[in-house]
Amino acid sequence: MNTIQNIQLETAKLLINGSFIESETQQWQDIINPATQEVIGRVPFATVQEVDAAIQSAQAAFASWRQTPIQARMRIMLKLQNLIRANMKEIAQVLTAEQGKTLADAEGDIQRGLEVVEHACSVGTLQMGEYVEGVARGVDTYTLQQPLGVCAGITPFNFPAMIPLWMFPMAIVCGNTFVLKPSEQDPLSTMMLVELAIQAGIPAGVLNVVHGGKEVVDRLCTHADIKAISFVGSTAVGTHVYNLAGQHGKRVQSMMGAKNHVAVMPDANKEQTLNALVGAAFGAAGQRCMALSVAVMVGDSKHWIAELVEKAKTLTVNAGHEPNTDIGPVISKRAKARVLDLINSGVEQGAELLLDGRDVQVHGYESGNFVGATIFSGVSTDMRIYKEEIFGPVLAIICVDTLEEAIALINANPFGNGVGLFTQSGAIARTFQNLIDIGQVGINIPIPVPVPFFSFTGSRGSKLGDLGPYGKQVVQFYTQTKTITSRWFEDSHEVGSVNTTISLR
Ligand code: NAD
Repeated sequence: MNTIQNIQLETAKLLINGSFIESETQQWQDIINPATQEVIGRVPFATVQEVDAAIQSAQAAFASWRQTPIQARMRIMLKLQNLIRANMKEIAQVLTAEQGKTLADAEGDIQRGLEVVEHACSVGTLQMGEYVEGVARGVDTYTLQQPLGVCAGITPFNFPAMIPLWMFPMAIVCGNTFVLKPSEQDPLSTMMLVELAIQAGIPAGVLNVVHGGKEVVDRLCTHADIKAISFVGSTAVGTHVYNLAGQHGKRVQSMMGAKNHVAVMPDANKEQTLNALVGAAFGAAGQRCMALSVAVMVGDSKHWIAELVEKAKTLTVNAGHEPNTDIGPVISKRAKARVLDLINSGVEQGAELLLDGRDVQVHGYESGNFVGATIFSGVSTDMRIYKEEIFGPVLAIICVDTLEEAIALINANPFGNGVGLFTQSGAIARTFQNLIDIGQVGINIPIPVPVPFFSFTGSRGSKLGDLGPYGKQVVQFYTQTKTITSRWFEDSHEVGSVNTTISLR
């Protein structure tokens, strides 16, 4: 079994032209274990020269990488998926230490990314063009899906394995070269995956990594040699990246913030529904872009609220590496302060606090960034806890009388990442999936993240750009369609005459 050797966990390295190097920057940030506040590493904010060197190495590598046979590119992905599987537990430990989520959830984070790598192994059929023979006499039309050149990816803190793996494997297997800018809050597990990618055989310059914040991101968005940008993160930054990179002529996909609702019909299976709601609202301490933020109780399902609260009370808040933990810490002291501020605002604005996670005590981890499961009822749409993405373990409950009201409420919310419906009625489910204006719908599924052969199709305020991550859409995103119309004369002596009109086929 190959193991991870080169990454020194204390210092996140840059990867430029196949070498893991220490940045020469003066600007560093600590990487902090959110359960203990222990400093477990440092991340550099790369200099402009280092970012330019990474882009230059990717640009230089493109010429030969795009000519590398597609089967050879796929074989590297086959090797990579094998290496990730073999190193899963080791990566999960680092991921939990720097991000806070439970070990089981960290393995889930890696597994979801691994599935995209597995899907990258079938790029041979995904990247096929189309061919129509005989569009005119002796004339055929066909398309090529050609790589774009240097692409860049900018990723958030909440899935340091899955989201980088949404990006660079698909971009590279399509024949592009890549510059990755991981989250500066938890880059170490991402770097372990990058090292495995190099071990799998990705040639020098094809994958590069730079660390940093706004300055590095802005350089990627404006550099003339970058052809496309994949961004996942908050709405404010995603909008900035989309606008800036768009102004510089780049193709951009920006997957952003969310406020996900689940509508609960009174005919739903109560136990299954309540278990699903609690898991979706409080898992990963609510730090998932597809986390459940708002439960819309329709009609008599409002009588289940007390039981929902009782279930949430049974969750264990603890450090992610401790056994039986349900809710780990949020990523930083700043994030915790934000979540607490929003909970306070809910109280001040008159929502009813049914379960209060503000003062949770975790024995042995007194300085951790913990927030316990928190539930509000009586929430109205003008409250901050309804309007803002909280990104913490906080569930808002709104009661309505009818399915139509639930659909109208959800459609009026500006975000469109995910939505769920719990019911036992096929007719209700069909009406809901037809009328709801949200890009990813779960029927009796609270977190409907599609598997990698489909695409991640968040919509409206949760996304800018038309093509989503992974699946067929991302192959479109990372390639340029070239359409060729060709004519071959069957008789090479056939000459014809000059014709100045557009031909009637
Ligand atoms: P963030 O926007 O703060 O950071 C994302 C990336 O942008 C990081 O790499 C960061 O270094 C960089 N960045 C931060 N500030 C910047 C600035 N001013 N200019 C340029 N770049 C900047 O997001 P986060 O807090 O790391 O992640 C949480 C957010 O990501 C949530 O809003 C969540 O909903 C969203 N998210 C969305 C999806 C999705 O698919 N829609 C998936 C995961 C997370």
